[in-house]
Amino acid sequence: LNYRTIRFLTSAPTLTECPEDSGAEVAFAGRSNAGKSSAINALTGNNKLARTSKTPGRTQLINFFSLSEQQRLVDLPGYGYAKVARAMKDEWQRHLAEYLEQRTCLKGLVLLMDIRQPLKEFDIHMLTWAVEAGLPVHILLTKADKLKNGPANNARFAVEKAIKQLGLDRGVTVQTFSSTKKAGLDKLERKLNAWLAP
Ligand code: GDP
Repeated sequence: LNYRTIRFLTSAPTLTECPEDSGAEVAFAGRSNAGKSSAINALTGNNKLARTSKTPGRTQLINFFSLSEQQRLVDLPGYGYAKVARAMKDEWQRHLAEYLEQRTCLKGLVLLMDIRQPLKEFDIHMLTWAVEAGLPVHILLTKADKLKNGPANNARFAVEKAIKQLGLDRGVTVQTFSSTKKAGLDKLERKLNAWLAP
């Protein structure tokens, strides 16, 4: 698959407004600032694609990008702004859970976490929903360039161990990733190719 030919398809505020549930889709999720836009940009070579709204309180949209007629990447907005009202967070979490549980064409979830602060509350929620829904998850430990190789690998082992202890490791893989160094792109592409294969 050529991720450089990706095109913006549509934005949807709720599950009912998503494109038709057919073909194959992979979703990207992460807390704000996890490095999701940078990772999608590095993958697609398109700097404007994932410029998600970072304005607190604004309507969060699910953004759909098409790779082909029947293959899509989906950018799920992260939350984590202190200023977003509790009620809005709750509503957004409902939409997210609904999307993960009910979307038949969803083949996998890429969950991005800053390698220096992995497995926060949001990450555990997402992992729990995905694993309980039987959805495979690929964890990207982002900004790995901030650590030397040894500590970066240790961080990966620690995450693998922690999710095992939580009983949240079924169908879950973990890799280190750096958008700035373009490190780990091959591995990510192989995972996406496998999930999106017809
Ligand atoms: P998003 O909110 O998840 O979309 O995060 P962004 O992609 O906007 O990144 C948040 C911040 O982390 C920005 O200041 C980026 O420049 C920085 N960042 C993202 N990826 C990397 C990376 O691989 N290495 C380093 N050092 N910084 C990164």
